[in-house]
Amino acid sequence: MSPIHLAIVGVGKIARDQHLPSIAKNPDFKLVAAASRHGTVDGIDNFKSIDEMLEKVPAIQAVSLCMPPQNRYEAAHKALSAGKHVFMEKPPGATLSEVADLEALADAKGLSLFASWHSRYAPAVEAAKAFLDSTIIRSMKVVWKEDVRHWHPNQEWIWQAGGLGVFDPGINALSIVTHILPRPVFITKATLEFPENRDAPIAAGITFTDAHGLDLTAEFDWRQTGKQSWDIVAATDDGEMVLSEGGAKLSIDGVLKHEEPEQEYPMLYKRFAEIVQAGKSDVDLAPLRHVADAFMLGRRKFVDAFYD
Ligand code: NAP
Repeated sequence: MSPIHLAIVGVGKIARDQHLPSIAKNPDFKLVAAASRHGTVDGIDNFKSIDEMLEKVPAIQAVSLCMPPQNRYEAAHKALSAGKHVFMEKPPGATLSEVADLEALADAKGLSLFASWHSRYAPAVEAAKAFLDSTIIRSMKVVWKEDVRHWHPNQEWIWQAGGLGVFDPGINALSIVTHILPRPVFITKATLEFPENRDAPIAAGITFTDAHGLDLTAEFDWRQTGKQSWDIVAATDDGEMVLSEGGAKLSIDGVLKHEEPEQEYPMLYKRFAEIVQAGKSDVDLAPLRHVADAFMLGRRKFVDAFYD
């Protein structure tokens, strides 16, 4: 098959770090254009807006949307309306309803919509899922703590309404948890800590359960300096499972079971090619739904102002 002619929208950190190198190595795609107000990509046609790009490059068959979530709906709607398949960075939107609307539009037009969750493609995630499917889970603890100044320097959108604050990384943990657990969970309690000068939380503590009374807690914090923590620990009838380093490494009772170099974005593009070729969409809203529930149910606590 000839490669899918692809365009990138929003040439920022993740587009440069992950999308461009992954697309370059995948023969299923040919990057033909980019749209970004400031960023550009060498060797292809660059435009300041998605409207101009879609008008001037009719050969585009699919677009990857790498801008912040607050601007994703408008771009996705334009691309789908113009007959293009759409790959959306995580989180897929600023609200659940707008993503449902896009899913319906993609369906009506016979196009593929991909709500990507890169952390689900971390190397040890499938092994963790298989282990949890084979045992009884007694409790699970998620600790996702990182230094926002290191990972998000000068990114204002993460602190604005709809930018999700600490849930921007926290939703990665939720995308893993919702994939590896055998049954759906739901939030029973949450506390969200908002810096007094910001519209999005810097930390969150969440308690979940399921129909069988599972004890599941999650701690998200953006104030961690030094060692960063991206760990999911489960007490099970067959030992303690530790899925660490954001899903890269799996140990059971201290014995390393799985560790490989990460290939998250190459795997995402492999999946996107698969769904385009199969004529279907891949949109799982469970991680975003939990974030919405945390905002709906969570107590709000104001903490010290945050400055970059
Ligand atoms: P970023 O560095 O701020 O880049 C996003 C780009 O989108 C900007 O450079 C900007 O390019 C464009 N954009 C369009 N409208 C914008 C607006 N209103 N405000 C700011 N930028 C706007 O952000 P990023 O880190 O790449 O994150 C983008 C998405 O990828 C987010 O949903 C994030 O959760 C996800 N993601 C990020 C990472 C990471 O490590 N950073 C990892 C995985 C996923 P122009 O100014 O040229 O238009």
